[in-house]
Amino acid sequence: MTKLNTQITYKRKGLVLSNMNLMGHEQLVFCQDTNTGLKAIIAIHDTTLGPALGGTRMWNYTNEEDALQDVLRLSRGMTFKAAISGLGLGGGKAVIIGDSETEKTEALMRKFGQYVNSLGGKYITAEDVGMSTKDMEYVRMETKYVTGIPESMGGSGDPSPLTAFGVYMGMKAAAHYKWGSDKLSGRTVLVQGVGHVGKNLVRHLTEEGANVIINDINEQRLDDLAQEFGATIVMGDSIFDVDMDIYAPCALGATVNPDTISRLKCEIIAGAANNQLADEGRDGQLCADKGICYAPDFLINAGGLINVYSELKGYNREDALNQTREIYNTTLEILNKSEFENITTHDAALKIAQERINDRKTSNI
Ligand code: NAD
Repeated sequence: MTKLNTQITYKRKGLVLSNMNLMGHEQLVFCQDTNTGLKAIIAIHDTTLGPALGGTRMWNYTNEEDALQDVLRLSRGMTFKAAISGLGLGGGKAVIIGDSETEKTEALMRKFGQYVNSLGGKYITAEDVGMSTKDMEYVRMETKYVTGIPESMGGSGDPSPLTAFGVYMGMKAAAHYKWGSDKLSGRTVLVQGVGHVGKNLVRHLTEEGANVIINDINEQRLDDLAQEFGATIVMGDSIFDVDMDIYAPCALGATVNPDTISRLKCEIIAGAANNQLADEGRDGQLCADKGICYAPDFLINAGGLINVYSELKGYNREDALNQTREIYNTTLEILNKSEFENITTHDAALKIAQERINDRKTSNI
């Protein structure tokens, strides 16, 4: 598939893409509809391994360039997530610009569904931040190219429990690699962000007997979880100075950066958030230099993607669960490869994913 030039200058309705790095994307679709107020971008990064699957995020971006940057980074990440997980999928993502609390309507979601449909299956959408299974129902009214629809409609429902299970598997593999045992009982794990994924992760950790510290900007959620699981609450930025064995970022990206790495006392970083390293090369190396074992995010948070992929083939929860369990072995393989080749864990994972894509490109299948 021909790639877009990585450096282009393009003007459209006030958005200036001047010398912007398009990260090797195959296709970008700008969607605008004045009737519904829809403003969205669909990014298709790579379809070598299959149709580009990735969720739709609705966020109140400051401007269109921020939205574009976000969708490009997320979409590229989906390519590698699918590749490393052995799925027949490419990478894509969509963002809708707006406040999901106040600006989301059925008409807007259905219009978005029409844009997805116009791509004829090259892009398949799903839930992401600011979306619900109900929204996916509206999209489903306009297109069949959507996953993560409710179980009552034959879908796989909320992917978060599987994402959390995969993160838990990746975390245990990292513990095995680092400490010679994957037992987490007695270990202190800090979970930053206790939303859909974080809460399920806290459940797994508590059941195993880990000491769990939780952090969120939503105080009600923190109080509820502290009560339900007996977790300790730590507020604000001070989390990066707390004694812990494992840091699990499950809120936002880019929380692993020179400032936090210099403060973190953990030996493992393993969480659900996408794009945890603010700068992949620099921060992957800083972690390695400090002896922190970083379990690559796009590898260990793939459980949700595995779940929606299963939906495309006719949903089987047991199969999805078994495939997600495999994240344990893949994580171990990557960590060993990183040590053997003296490269960062992030680069080791990226290398395997890229090799699979390249193999497919050069084969005549
Ligand atoms: P969510 O919106 O349900 O939960 C996110 C939580 O983080 C919320 O409780 C929010 O209050 C909290 N938060 C936001 N900003 C924060 C901050 N600055 N400090 C502390 N907490 C903060 O989202 P989710 O579905 O649980 O996803 C969590 C992360 O995992 C996201 O980065 C998402 O992209 C990624 N992810 C999710 C899935 C999935 O299946 N849901 C799959 C792969 C990756």
